[in-house]
Order: sequence, then C-alpha cells, then structure tokens
Amino acid sequence: MSLRIEVLSGLGDKAPAAILVEAEGRRLLLDAGGALHPGQSMAWAEGLDVDAVLISHDHIDHIGGVSALPAELPLYCTGEVAAALPSGREWRALPERGQCRIAGIPVTTGQAGHSLGGVWLHLGIGDGVFYSGDACRESLLFPFDQPPPARVALLDASYGSYDTPQAQCREAIAQRLSEPRVLPVPVSGRALEMALWLDELGVVWNLDDACRAGLEALLRLPRTLRRQGHDAAIRRLLDAARKDSPLLWLVEDRDDDPQEWPAHRLLHTGYLTPRRQRQRATGEVDWQRWNVHLRLSHMRALTRQLGVGQVIPLFTTEVREVSESLMADEPAFSEEGSDAVG
Ligand SMILES: [Zn+2]
Repeated sequence: MSLRIEVLSGLGDKAPAAILVEAEGRRLLLDAGGALHPGQSMAWAEGLDVDAVLISHDHIDHIGGVSALPAELPLYCTGEVAAALPSGREWRALPERGQCRIAGIPVTTGQAGHSLGGVWLHLGIGDGVFYSGDACRESLLFPFDQPPPARVALLDASYGSYDTPQAQCREAIAQRLSEPRVLPVPVSGRALEMALWLDELGVVWNLDDACRAGLEALLRLPRTLRRQGHDAAIRRLLDAARKDSPLLWLVEDRDDDPQEWPAHRLLHTGYLTPRRQRQRATGEVDWQRWNVHLRLSHMRALTRQLGVGQVIPLFTTEVREVSESLMADEPAFSEEGSDAVG
C-alpha cells in the first residue's frame, strides 16, 4: 500500500501539530494545532485538501487550528475532546480505546496518558503508522495503553533528550512550596494530577473553579479511563470547604502575569512561551518541570515495543539527536524502571 507522510507543522520545534498521512489516494490530517504563542505560524492550514481530520486531544497546539478548517470537513475526536471544539462544530466519535474505519483507513486508538479523553492514533496502513499525539507513561491518573506494532512512529518528543523521572520533578516542586505560590496549569491534564498530588502532600492549598470543573469531568469519565484508587480523594477535594487565603493556588493557565499575583510567586511547570522564558530569565517567575510528555527512556521503550523501522520525533528542536538515540542498535532496553506506573 502506498504511504506518504508529511509533517505540515510540528517538526523541528514545539509548534502546532498537523500531520498529513496519505494512503491509496485517501488523505487524513492528524491534529489541527493552533499557535502556542503570538507569532507562531499557522500556514499549515492554507489550501489544505484532506478527507478527514482526527484530533488526538484538547490542548491548543493540537486542536486550536480547527477553526481554520472548512466546517464541512469530517472531524473525529473523543467525546471529552469534543467539548473543546468551536461552538457548533460538528464531529464524529473516535473511540477512547478501540477501532474504527475513517475514509477507508483502519484506525485504532488507545489512551495516551496525557489528558482527559486524549488518545494516540494507529493507522492500519502497510505495517502500521503510529502517532502518539502528546503522550506520557508516568501519569498517576491517566493510563497509557500499549499500541499495536507499527513500522513508522511519529512520537511526542517535546522534551527532546531529557530523561529525568517524574518522582524527581515532584520532589523539586515540593521544595519550592514553602513560599506563597501560584501554579498555572492546563486543566485537562496536569491540573488534575497535581491536585491529587497536593492533596497527598498535606499542604494547605486551593484550586480555582476551572480546576474544580476539571476534577468533576474526571469523575464523569468511564472508570476504565482513569487509574483506580483516586475517586475517594477526588470527591473529598470537590466537597472540601473553600479556604480563605491559601498560600498555594492551583489555577487554570490563562497566561497569567506576575503583576496579577502581587502576594505570590508564579511557578510554571510546563511549556514556556518566549514571553515567559524572558520572565524566567529576569527572575520574575520560576519554573520546574512536571512531566506530561514522553521522556527519552520511554520513547526508546515504545520504539522497541512497536518494532519501529522509522521514527519521526515531533515538537522538538533535537530531531536528529533523538532520532539517532532511538534508532541506535543498543542492547534491548530493560523494562525494569522504564515505566514506573504502567
Ligand atoms: Zn497536550
């Protein structure tokens, strides 16, 4: 079967995700990413001609470009992700974990371990094409499902060759919570994991209405789409009385500026826009990563498990380094320690 893959956007930088896959004359667009910051190019959407678009998850760099697509273009996503579509946009259901056929191409989906209702995509073209969307194998909350074998893998390499375990990230963040802090986070994903972690940490903290709504959405998910053992804690968080003046806030990331929180210091834990990179450089804000993407060991394990012959690292400037590292003829990767929570 003929196969052509063109990364329209997302190759060589942390940029909007848009990947064109063409097989036997059928053309699928994988993700329709929007700009992460002003000035990021959206040229990928110009003159696009595809049969359908599949959306992996509801973060702006994967779904934010939907409004630039023709309204009549068939769009597939999970029910949770559909809530983030432009108002009135028609969509068709993509299974959270299962199989379907889109424009004649067999599609398998599974949980990507990254966000509410977020999936990876596997296309039954030739020996298989795997696209991870954004994925993580360290989430306390979101499961990561093992995909079927694939000859070609388009992987979330947002962290490049970074390989620090999540446990170390949590430890480093905990050490920074002794002063008044605000943690701006994406609601559909990191916010919910951090909420449960803060709850276990036993510190005094509060969450805004958006994060609270995210926890409610999490409880509405089918039980198999979240790791077990957290439901009682989530309910307790939702029932808890509001605290008047907490030192520690978990809030939806609305591009907050330090001036909006004069009594607190902002602690960012994810992607920094150029503006925030400048704020960090001048000491206005702090940053300590909380892993929500695949780190190098986990990309390597996945590459081995898929039986990949060609890997395309996405969303990173380290394309060649990561690619060479993943495809190097190293001894079989030890499973031990590679996937701490499954
Ligand atoms: Zn994401």
